[in-house]
Amino acid sequence: MAVLESISTEYRKKAIEKHEKDKLLCKKGNYKIGKDTIILNMGFATHCPSAARGLCKIVNKCYALKAEKMYKAVLPYRERQADQWRRLPVCVYIEKLKRMIEKSKKGKHPIKYVRFNESGDFYDQSCVLKLDLIARALKGLAKVYTYTARRDLRIAGVCDNLNIVTSGFDLFGFTRFLPVKKASGSRPLCPADCTVCGMCKSRYNLRANQSMIIEVIIH
Ligand code: SF4
Repeated sequence: MAVLESISTEYRKKAIEKHEKDKLLCKKGNYKIGKDTIILNMGFATHCPSAARGLCKIVNKCYALKAEKMYKAVLPYRERQADQWRRLPVCVYIEKLKRMIEKSKKGKHPIKYVRFNESGDFYDQSCVLKLDLIARALKGLAKVYTYTARRDLRIAGVCDNLNIVTSGFDLFGFTRFLPVKKASGSRPLCPADCTVCGMCKSRYNLRANQSMIIEVIIH
């Protein structure tokens, strides 16, 4: 938390004022994700940083990419989200999320989870740091989770309010998605309905030399 604490109150106040009119571009979860979850994107699937580095093993099955090709409003919206992710200082991002979560607690569907990256991936190490700071600041308000194929970044060490589900590689202490054509029966299987599941929304109390593999059926 030292990074956040080092931001002076004066800077924070000015930054929040400067970006007051920037409405956070996020979507409330749908019938598959659950109405207690909001979704934000750091980027888009077209020019995904993992695909560009050959790290994503399911490029041809990418639902995010399909949506960007199929619906013409999707890519421009995600490009604006990517711009916002890069442009807004972390303290502004946190303030906007906190306000949104706190407001939702008075409504019918309080936000319990913040999901990052329905499309895209971390661009670089600074995105991991930014997300970690956000998750630390939201501890007790909402849990934060995301997915990554960026095996080349340092992920271990992020706070326990942030679950990073890996794809294409194992990382001790974290959850891994394993795409399969048929369930093995020996591992947990993603039911593709987050309203009744939640296996990848929070961190498990895994031992230092353990990761949890969840199989995902890829059609
Ligand atoms: S494992 Fe559960 S929470 Fe994760 S994507 Fe699948 S249904 Fe959703």
